[in-house]
Amino acid sequence: MSGILYLCATPIGNLEDMTMRAVRILKEVDLIAAEDTRNSIKLLNHFEIHTPMTSYHEFNKYEKGRYLVGLLLEGKNIALITDAGTPGISDPGEELVRMAHEAGVTVTALPGACAAVNALVLSGLPTRRFCFEAFLPADKKERREVLEELKEETRTIVLYEAPHRLLRTLQELFEELGDRSLTVVRELTKKHETVFRTTLSAAITYYMQNEPKGECVLVLAGEDREDIRKREQEDWCAVPLAEHMEHYISRGMAQKEAMKAVAADRGVSKREIYAMLLKDNEMEK
Ligand code: SAM
Repeated sequence: MSGILYLCATPIGNLEDMTMRAVRILKEVDLIAAEDTRNSIKLLNHFEIHTPMTSYHEFNKYEKGRYLVGLLLEGKNIALITDAGTPGISDPGEELVRMAHEAGVTVTALPGACAAVNALVLSGLPTRRFCFEAFLPADKKERREVLEELKEETRTIVLYEAPHRLLRTLQELFEELGDRSLTVVRELTKKHETVFRTTLSAAITYYMQNEPKGECVLVLAGEDREDIRKREQEDWCAVPLAEHMEHYISRGMAQKEAMKAVAADRGVSKREIYAMLLKDNEMEK
C-alpha cells in the first residue's frame, strides 16, 4: 500500500489561520516536504511539530519529486507545505502532484489560506466569475501576449505582484487595458492589512508618491461586454460598406443575408444598410 501525499495549506501572515487538521496531519506524516525549510521551521516550532523536513522547491522539483514519489510508493505519508498559503498556487506543488497521480499515489488537499481568494472576496469587485493570472510572466514576449489576452477578459482578474515591481506592472496594465477599477489588497491577515479601492490611473499616481510596501494582490475589474461590443462595431464601421458586404458574400451568403449580418456588425438596422448601399450605387452611376 502506498502512502498519501497531503497538500497542506499554511497561513499567509496570521498563524491563527493554521487549521487544526493541518497541525494534526503535519504531526502524523512521516516527512514534510517544505519549500524553504529555514522558513517553515518557525511554523513547525510554533505548533510543536517535530516531523522531519526535507526541501522541495522550484530548482529540485524533478529530482526531489522522483525521490518523494519513491517514498510514497514505499508506504510513507508525506505533507507538502510552502512558505505561505496553498501549495500549487504560484508555489511549487503542481509537478509533485502530477508525478504522484501518475504513480497511482493518493493525493489529498487540506484547505486553508490562499491570498488570491482572500483578496478577491475583500475587493468589492464582482466575485461570481474571476480569473487568476498569478504573476505576469517575466519574459517580455509572453508578458505582452498575456496582457493582450487580458484586454478582452470580462471576468474579474486577480494578479500577484511583488512590491518592487508593482508600479511597473500597474503602468503596463494601464497602457494595455486602459483605466479600470482596481483594488490593491496588502498584507492580508496581518496587522496592517489594507484594502485600497481605486483605479489603475489613481493607483499609479499614488504609488509614484508612496513607495509600495508589503505583499500585495491586485484585483482588477474585467472588461465591460458592452464596451467590447462598441469597439467591435467601431472597427466594422471603419471598413468600407462594399468591402464589408463582400466579406459575407464571398463566404456564400445571399445579398439579403449579408445585409443582415453587416447591420448586426455595425449596430445599425438593415434598412439603414439598404439605404447606404443605394446611395453608394447612385454615386457610382
Ligand atoms: N501559495 C500562496 C497562496 O496560496 O496565496 C501564494 C504564494 S506566491 C509565491 C506569493 C504572492 O502571494 C505574493 O507576491 C503576493 O502577491 C501574494 N501574497 C501572499 N501572501 C500575501 C499576503 N499576506 N498579503 C497579500 N498578498 C499576499
